[in-house]
Formats: sequence, structure tokens, C-alpha cells
Amino acid sequence: KPEGDQLDQANPVRKEDTGLWQCPFCLKNDFPELSEVWNHFDAGGCPGQATGVRIRLDNGITGYIHIKNLSDKHVTDPEERVSRGQMIHCRITKIDVERFSIDATSKSSDLLDKNHEWRPPKDPFYDHEAEAKDIKIEEDAKKIKQRQTYIKRVIVHPAFHNISFVEAEKIMANMEQGECIIRPSSKGADHLTVTWKVADGIYQHIDVREENKENAFSLGQSLWIGNEEFEDLDEIIARHVNPMAAHARDLFSFRYYKDTDGGLKDKAEEFLKEEKKKNPQKIHYIISVSKNYPGKFLLSYLPRNRCKHELITVTPEGFRFR
Ligand SMILES: [Zn+2]
Repeated sequence: KPEGDQLDQANPVRKEDTGLWQCPFCLKNDFPELSEVWNHFDAGGCPGQATGVRIRLDNGITGYIHIKNLSDKHVTDPEERVSRGQMIHCRITKIDVERFSIDATSKSSDLLDKNHEWRPPKDPFYDHEAEAKDIKIEEDAKKIKQRQTYIKRVIVHPAFHNISFVEAEKIMANMEQGECIIRPSSKGADHLTVTWKVADGIYQHIDVREENKENAFSLGQSLWIGNEEFEDLDEIIARHVNPMAAHARDLFSFRYYKDTDGGLKDKAEEFLKEEKKKNPQKIHYIISVSKNYPGKFLLSYLPRNRCKHELITVTPEGFRFR
């Protein structure tokens, strides 16, 4: 709390953005006139500047959180962050045995303790590798779960199913090349995913963005794949999926198409080198479907001694090199 001299020498400032005056001690900033700031001092109405928050632990011991330890962000008024009687989660940073009290911090960075500053050190034989492994397993499981979650949608279309991508791929195992399933997207309620069968075991997932939706579950009035707009799901199948599937079939029936177990470069090289032996004059090449890049094909060729590989992308318009 400010006193005598401090008050006399006070230098209240006018905030440029609001045009209002601010008390330099408690930082109250809604005085229309300078004289009212002085009135605020004279009436003893200034509570002064807060330096922190007093706390009490569950066991009755009292403690203190300095204002700079309240938050990672700058705090001027603790009441913006905490209120009287509120329960807060904090980390004890100092124990003052003589005064029977503690200091604490509630900064997120301290609570997380990413730099291991506060936790007791682990013993020298602690198995950090095992811990890292466990964390990875947990994270992977979370990721898989995330991919399997989706919002159930109310969409009437023979190709639409409320299923996850794992289930979609299972069902599509028995479907024909070029067929597709439309399903909810893990990206949210204004996205759909069209999964089409490029080849056995290879599925391309196409993101469809919906606009002008009546509600979260209904189908958007306009559908977008990249920068291309479609009126409905039938149009997407007719104008986007079917042409791509047909172009893929053209490649499958191409005379230099060769199965390489889903685009394995080693397999392609092996084959091309055999061909080169038989006919060294010719530059041999083959095309194979890529499993790692669904919707793309691998073009492998052998100009001299070293095999080269390029990707060809199937698009609704035809083929794109790379
Ligand atoms: Zn004040």
C-alpha cells in the first residue's frame, strides 16, 4: 500500500488508447479525470500494488505465490487470475522451516517441469530407455484411437457408411478396383473422406470439404476437393473418382506395366537389369503401382547402368509427371 511521500510524488498517467487515467500503484485504470486519481489516494482507497497471493495447503500450512510465479504470462492484477477461496494447483519451490511456510509457483512451465528442475532426481540406474519405450507405445495407441474416431453423419447415399478408415479398408478388400466408400472424416464434421480402391491393398483417401451445411450432421450444399467444387456425392464419384480409376486401369493394362510388390524399387531394378541383358540396345522401362503413395505409380527406367525412378500421379484429367 502506498504511503505519504510515495503518494505525493506519484505520477499518474493517461492511457493513450482509452484516454482514461491510471493509478500507478494499484493500476486501476478507469479514472476519467486526473483529480479523481488524487481523490482515490486521499480517501485511502488505493489498495496498493499486489505482490503475490497467499495460499494455504491442504495440511493447513500457509504459503505464498509471488506475482511473477503466478503465470508464464505477465500478471499485473492477481485477481484476474485467481479469486479468494479458489483451489489452485501449484508446485512447492521452497520450504521455510522457521516460518513454517512455503513458496510456490503456479506457472504452467513449472507445473509441467519439462526441464526436470523440480522433480527429485532419478536414481542412476533408472531405465530411461524403458520409459521412452512406454511413452511411445502410449502415444501410438492414442494416435490409432484418434484415427478411429469420427462423428456419425446422416447422409443418404449408397456409397456412404458411418465407419472408420480401418473398417473401410476391410470392407473394400472384397470390392472391385475403382470402387469407393464415402465416410466421416477425422478432420471434423465439415469434412468427408472418399476412399477409393487403386488396387488390391492400396486405397487412396481423398479429403472433401463441405460448405453451407444446415447442421453438423447433414451434407454440405457444396463440396470441395482442393479448389474444385462439386454439387453432390454422385458428381464426385462421376467426375473425380471414376476418371482416376479408369486412368489407373489404363496403366494396369499398359504393356510395360509390371507388378513390383507395390512399387519396390529393388524389384523394378532386378527386372530391368534382366531385360537389359537380353537387349542392351534398348532403354527399358516399366510402370508399377505404388503402395506407399496411393494414387501414384512408379516409372522405373534404365538408361545405362543406373536405374532411375519417377512418380506418376493419376488425376481425373489424366496423368501428372511427378
Ligand atoms: Zn490505486
